[in-house]
Amino acid sequence: MSANVIAMFDAALAAAVTRAGPEISATEQGHVEQGHIKQTEILKDLFEGHYESATTVAQAFEGAVLGIGVAEAVDGEIVAFDDTVWRVPVDGIPVLAEPALGLPFSVVALGGTEVSKSVAAGTDFTGLTTLIDEILKAAGQHDHHAVAAVRVDGTFTGVVLRSEPRQQRPYRPLIEVLDHEVQFPFDTWSGTLVGFRFPDVSDQVVIPGLHLHGIGADRRSGGHCHRAVTVSATLRVWIDDVDIFVPMTGVHYGM
Ligand SMILES: [Zn+2]
Repeated sequence: MSANVIAMFDAALAAAVTRAGPEISATEQGHVEQGHIKQTEILKDLFEGHYESATTVAQAFEGAVLGIGVAEAVDGEIVAFDDTVWRVPVDGIPVLAEPALGLPFSVVALGGTEVSKSVAAGTDFTGLTTLIDEILKAAGQHDHHAVAAVRVDGTFTGVVLRSEPRQQRPYRPLIEVLDHEVQFPFDTWSGTLVGFRFPDVSDQVVIPGLHLHGIGADRRSGGHCHRAVTVSATLRVWIDDVDIFVPMTGVHYGM
């Protein structure tokens, strides 16, 4: 059960990830030490309704700079930064995630060199993605193959966060679960958004594009972030390579 294998991975992306090493050692930001992203499970399995534990909070987030995930049985969105892991259940109020809590899916950044930029007011997710791609390009990465860990701290308008109700077996596909998602809109919201900018691929392995989860500055709100527009914010990016682990559970033996 504990043996891990590296999953099949988009060939172009895998090549880009492998290639990313030495090229980024000298940039206009100075030396950029490549970090590391650890993803457990693949998007396809999650979308097919495999909500059983594939790892635990303690296992997945040890040494994490930041990370995201979903709780077992889709019992909340997972958000991690500042050595803390939260679970945001369907009521939208963050609670500390227990170390033993099971996760069917997680993506965790383990380090690397941080590149920091202030963000102009009025920047939405598209604008943030452009900014991140500029940072990656300056570091010698091809933006269409880029993988980066992302953190945005600040004040935002037009924020929509979401969580989903806990599921009962037999599990429904994720798309049906998300039909019943609960949204939390905020005219003005201060907090921290963390997540990843993966390439815009549809390989069913990684989540394409920019994907962020948030926790409010007062720790009273959080969840998956549908959208947010900056009022004033600081963007931090860690350029990373990726390993994807698929635990040898029943799912992968066709059980
Ligand atoms: Zn999410």
